[in-house]
Amino acid sequence: MPTSDTTNRRDLRRPISRNLRCATQPCPEFAHWEFSSRKEYDDHVRRVREWSCLKHEHPEKVLSPARLRIEWLSEPCEPSAKYPTIPRTTLFWGNTGFLHGDGYYAYADDFPVGTRIRVTAEVILPPLAPQTTTDGQPEPAGGNSGVPKGRE
Ligand SMILES: [Zn+2]
Repeated sequence: MPTSDTTNRRDLRRPISRNLRCATQPCPEFAHWEFSSRKEYDDHVRRVREWSCLKHEHPEKVLSPARLRIEWLSEPCEPSAKYPTIPRTTLFWGNTGFLHGDGYYAYADDFPVGTRIRVTAEVILPPLAPQTTTDGQPEPAGGNSGVPKGRE
């Protein structure tokens, strides 16, 4: 009887997993990979001996409570001789004629030579949580003057 289940025995095996902690200790970040064969796992172990989280590899690019805004500015777009088979009038920002990220796409050919793209990432923190008293009751309207209860 034919079945729609085309899963073979290989698919039923559990993947081989590997976790590496960030090389900067005692950082708690870790990376997790899964491999479908021992060969893939062994190749990965040979290639990747150490791993660092982005906070330690590129701290200047990580948003944090101390760094709420980061800007990145592209190179000016210009024709490139890097790709001889592409018409010389095609524009590139560095080695690409197309930039994209969350919320935008940009084709270099849509802009004049020399155009740059500035990407800004900014953290918008939530409004402060309502203040509560030490017994968990909402603080009266007008807020806390900073004086602990019972000392007014
Ligand atoms: Zn780290």
